[in-house]
Amino acid sequence: MKILVVGSGGREHALAWKLAQSERIQVVYVAPGNGGTARDGRLVNVDISDPAQLADFVQSENIALTVVGPETPLAAGIVNLFRARGLKIFGPTKEAAQLESSKDFAKSFMQRHGIPTAAYRTFSEACDAHAYIDEQGAPIVVKADGLAAGKGVVVAMTLAEAHDAVDLMLLDNRFGDAGARVVVEEFLAGEEASFIVMCDGKNVLPLATSQDHKRLKDHDEGPNTGGMGAYSPAPIVTPAMHARVMREVINPTITGMAKDGITFTGFLYAGLMIDAQGNPKTLEFNCRMGDPETQPIMARLKSDLVGVMEHAVNGTLDTVELEWDRRTAVGVVMAAAGYPDDPRKGDVIEGIPAETAECVTFHAGTTIADGALRTNGGRVLCVVGLGDSVKMAQKRAYETVDQIRFAGAQFRRDIGWRGLKH
Ligand code: ATP
Repeated sequence: MKILVVGSGGREHALAWKLAQSERIQVVYVAPGNGGTARDGRLVNVDISDPAQLADFVQSENIALTVVGPETPLAAGIVNLFRARGLKIFGPTKEAAQLESSKDFAKSFMQRHGIPTAAYRTFSEACDAHAYIDEQGAPIVVKADGLAAGKGVVVAMTLAEAHDAVDLMLLDNRFGDAGARVVVEEFLAGEEASFIVMCDGKNVLPLATSQDHKRLKDHDEGPNTGGMGAYSPAPIVTPAMHARVMREVINPTITGMAKDGITFTGFLYAGLMIDAQGNPKTLEFNCRMGDPETQPIMARLKSDLVGVMEHAVNGTLDTVELEWDRRTAVGVVMAAAGYPDDPRKGDVIEGIPAETAECVTFHAGTTIADGALRTNGGRVLCVVGLGDSVKMAQKRAYETVDQIRFAGAQFRRDIGWRGLKH
């Protein structure tokens, strides 16, 4: 059987790596892939990004099903296009992907269906946004409405920062159309968790829980990034919290979408903030798996992902029971010099050890050029260690991180610290 994974990040490497473990797999294509998927003998990179050309490729190669990693092709309607051509694909339609591609859509959806989230208002005029911010006070959060690769969110601790963010988005047009409207939102304090499920249109199958680390530096300092590491499971999501999130967030989202005339298929990711009293609120939805959360989650998945994907596209996820490695997985992202503002490309990467049962290195911004593996993007690698405790998983991940060398590498030393605290 042949499968296609769309994307080029660490998330897609982890998905392709897991799919390729299935005995039923002949080949996993990755479009466009990265240096790591190029090196793996079971994976084949395909240099196509246009969705219509990808559909042609899937037809000509007789590929059984396609899994989409990133949000951009989903928001552009790759699922609609594939389905119209009778091709099996796992992901949300363009309409369903609005839960991620428009924060205003997501917020009004949550309000309408009683899903707990921060209070908010949406603005397209700067003067109205400024007046609302003055009325509410700081801290306060300003978000570009559209997709901005994780850079369109400003958690403003002062009024001045909030006003600057509004001007940047609405007056300076920094995010183009994505920032033509802004959502101004109540600041929520607490601990974040990533709650990801698979939906086949009717049934919901939760994956293992995880926690991301958004800030560049140790102790959650420095600028926000796409994510500097993640670990799974997240102990803050106790069985009671899990049941509550399913009841208050996930199930009402799927049924709310159906009530609004949209069938949700694909991965649904709820970014949660759990406050000191243990109440979860939804910070955001993503219509895809998280990156880097996917890497530790896939490292822990024991079930055959090919079979799971087949059930997902055939509407039979209710028959699936996922099996997980009981160990904790800690994934440490190694980023390029200059990340997140201006990542440098072209540095030679050396010292990545072979995969073991305790540690695997997923590639993201890497490429093979001039006979060497080189950096080719902001987040370069994600090293995932597995262990019986968070501490052991951390130790294994960092033993490998310390063997890997490239000029200007940046990584945090404390991935999983909240797990240690629990
Ligand atoms: P990404 O796609 O990278 O996950 P995004 O651009 O969709 O991010 P959000 O996830 O909504 O943006 O916000 C990014 C981060 O900002 C969150 O993970 C959280 O740390 C912080 N944040 C967002 N909203 C709030 C809020 N209301 N209160 C406090 N912090 C917030």
